[in-house]
Amino acid sequence: MEYEAVIGLEIHVQLKAKSKVFAGTPAGFGEPPNKLIDPTVLALPGALPVLNRESVEKSMKFGLMIDAKMPKISRWSRKNYFYPDSPKNYQITQLAEEAIVGPGEVEIELPGPSRNVMGEHKKIRINHAHLEEDVGKLTHGGTTSLVDYNRAGTTLLEIVTEPDMHSAEEAVALLNALRMILNAAGLSDCDMEKGQLRCDANVSVRPAGTNELRTRTEMKNVNSLTGVRNCINFEIKRQIRAYENGEKIVQETRGWNAETGHTYSMRSKENAHDYRYFPDPDLMPVKIDDAWLARLSADLPEKPFDRQRRYMADFGLPYTITSVLIPDRALCDFFEKSVAAFPKAPQQTANLIVNEILREIAAAGTEATIADSKISPEALAGLVEAVEAGTISKQQAKEVFAEMWNSGKSAADIIKEKGLAQSSDFGELEAMISAVIADPKNADAVASFKGGNEKVINVLKGQVMKASRGKANPAKVDEIMRKLLA
Ligand code: ADP
Ligand code: MG
Repeated sequence: MEYEAVIGLEIHVQLKAKSKVFAGTPAGFGEPPNKLIDPTVLALPGALPVLNRESVEKSMKFGLMIDAKMPKISRWSRKNYFYPDSPKNYQITQLAEEAIVGPGEVEIELPGPSRNVMGEHKKIRINHAHLEEDVGKLTHGGTTSLVDYNRAGTTLLEIVTEPDMHSAEEAVALLNALRMILNAAGLSDCDMEKGQLRCDANVSVRPAGTNELRTRTEMKNVNSLTGVRNCINFEIKRQIRAYENGEKIVQETRGWNAETGHTYSMRSKENAHDYRYFPDPDLMPVKIDDAWLARLSADLPEKPFDRQRRYMADFGLPYTITSVLIPDRALCDFFEKSVAAFPKAPQQTANLIVNEILREIAAAGTEATIADSKISPEALAGLVEAVEAGTISKQQAKEVFAEMWNSGKSAADIIKEKGLAQSSDFGELEAMISAVIADPKNADAVASFKGGNEKVINVLKGQVMKASRGKANPAKVDEIMRKLLA
């Protein structure tokens, strides 16, 4: 029998907020254990939560980026469970129907036939996204377990998709699309290694061509794209094999062992009612009106795939170059500022960013970003302009770029210091070209050109370039030579 996989993802994203979602303590990463705590985070008696506006607005911005239906009112619930990663013994979260973000959709791109070709685009429906607090971190060793509450209470947005995906590739494409949206709007850095984006994958399989939703399993907290791809593929195969053997799939939570490449049973799935959700009496509901939505909308960037289509259509950039720029908002901003400073050659500008600047950034180490570039967007525009004006050749531009990268000097200063400017002094050039045309050993070539042999002009131009020791501007040489020959 043919089977079709059905996949829905629940994605936890750590939003960038200066303080925790229900307390004024800073949210941070990499501090010594238990430094980012206060009475509310520790749930000391009498401490009350206060909602962080930044967490709410960043969640709403996500909703607006995915054209979600936004609620008029959004409420807070307590999800009760007992585990030492939470000092309160409940988590403040939201029910799906009261979530800060209602139903929306995300455009994804599947891998194309090659890296240079755009793949198929599709929309994946988002059921809702709710705002909640993260828990602390447990470290187990020997007979002791340690807990660090630095992460407890930081802002998490849980994005829940409809079961709209049918392959591991589609699931990975959705995660990539979400990362681009969250990055573009400045909502999260989505660094999976730092746990800023964690994914639970729900998987079932059904006979191809049917619409039934069969029993699913859920793989918790897979923390890399490769992990997501591999665990979904493993689970699809496992379930198909089970059906083929006449076995049943039990609804359960399964773990993913990246080392063995297997999923394994962890526990039977708990239901919502097991958590005894109830409204949090300490927190007021949030009322959302059109004016607030309009204010946030005004501050949103273009959607990443819209931006990509615009770069291709308006600037003529090739797909390959855009697919490097688009996932990184800072690179896009750099590119657009540079093009604004010199609009005539956007393709050259993009090439320099993708080929030269990114190569240097990669060489500078894993933490380096475009923000570390000593070359400003305007300075890069100066270099592109020098090439386009014919002041220096493309080959010389590489040398100038290297010097700009190291010293932060402008292209114009470096060109002057190194005496790189190609000669385009008309009188001097004209004399040089006249001499070449008049040279008796070129009489045949000149006659041949006048007889209609276009190509022979290159022989003559080559001699001018040689005479000028490479400093003549080839475009100018061509122009003057044709005039003199005519
Ligand atoms: P629960 O309330 O048990 O968490 P939800 O209805 O919220 O279940 O769904 C959780 C996730 O599981 C969603 O991403 C959803 O798309 C996905 N899902 C639901 N049913 C299936 C199924 N039969 N196969 C695969 N994924 C599913
Ligand atoms: Mg759920």
